[in-house]
Amino acid sequence: MTLKTRAAIKAVFGEPLLVEEIELEDPGDEEVLVKLFATGICHSQLHQIHNPDGPVPTLLGHEGTGIVLKAGSKVSHVKEGERVMIQFVPRDLPDGMTTANRTKYRWQGEEYEAGVYTWAEHALLNEQMVVPLPNDVPTDITAIIGCAVITGAGAALYTAGVKPGDAVAVFGVGGVGSNVLAGAKIAGADPIIAVDLNEGKLGYAKELGATHTVNGADVNAPDAIKELTGGGVDYAFDAIGVQAAFLQSVESVKAGVLGVHRGGTAVIVGIGQGDLPLPRLFPIGERTIMGSMGGSARPGEVMPNYIEWYKEGKLPLEKLVSKKYENLDEINEGVRALEQGEIEGRSIIVYDAP
Ligand SMILES: [Zn+2]
Repeated sequence: MTLKTRAAIKAVFGEPLLVEEIELEDPGDEEVLVKLFATGICHSQLHQIHNPDGPVPTLLGHEGTGIVLKAGSKVSHVKEGERVMIQFVPRDLPDGMTTANRTKYRWQGEEYEAGVYTWAEHALLNEQMVVPLPNDVPTDITAIIGCAVITGAGAALYTAGVKPGDAVAVFGVGGVGSNVLAGAKIAGADPIIAVDLNEGKLGYAKELGATHTVNGADVNAPDAIKELTGGGVDYAFDAIGVQAAFLQSVESVKAGVLGVHRGGTAVIVGIGQGDLPLPRLFPIGERTIMGSMGGSARPGEVMPNYIEWYKEGKLPLEKLVSKKYENLDEINEGVRALEQGEIEGRSIIVYDAP
């Protein structure tokens, strides 16, 4: 049976997104048809929207929640009528596969393929892109687990493996950086130093567990961090992806002692807009630079942990989601506000109360 639904579509580079009807067929063997409850709005989509070479048409969005309307014959981890989270990392790819298979949709009479997408009232997704969402948690704020939380908190908890008492600095208190702060707090890091250029975002960082804040517009952030920690942090996270933040995060990491132990680690979470140079004397101090994408761990294994931490009050999703839109028609406004730096944490679109 053909389902008609509405989706945000990047149809022409440089123009606002269209919100138009698309058509979805019944799921194939390894696919699920999901009615969306909510979706997050993430910086990655801004990069997609502003990429002149990106394919068109493109469906967007890669974190959300919904309910399974239909499931293919080979789908066993979720059933019809069950709630799911949608995430941008495949949940548990079999050996040998590097990406989940794409699905099909029709728009204006033509057939196209899509990977994951959540800026749509319904989505046809490969089963790899959903994991179960328990019934005893809200369906709106949990929409950000599928990208912001696994990327940000996961960078601290799983990529870096922050331990209790480790000193942590986080550059950038946006959608991802705010989640790095939350992950560092869950891990028991102390101190947790937030760095941003915006005083409002630094106040917000304190609500999320930052023990100290540094305004990089007023002081040299690495110097301030070294003074606060007596020489530098165990882990510095670059959650921005611009050259200055990258270099400052590397510089904020503590040096090792020659012949005794290695230095700390800079974890690069933000995707840079250009290449990133290393200081000539980088080898001195034996610091490590580590890339983090999607928080390293398999979503099928770790996303239930985030639900548990939320229930225990350790993952403040209600604070991490700072803005809710009520209709897909507001998508271009949501994109504009994110772009203008108006969003602390994450904004979401809520399609439909369950
Ligand atoms: Zn994202």
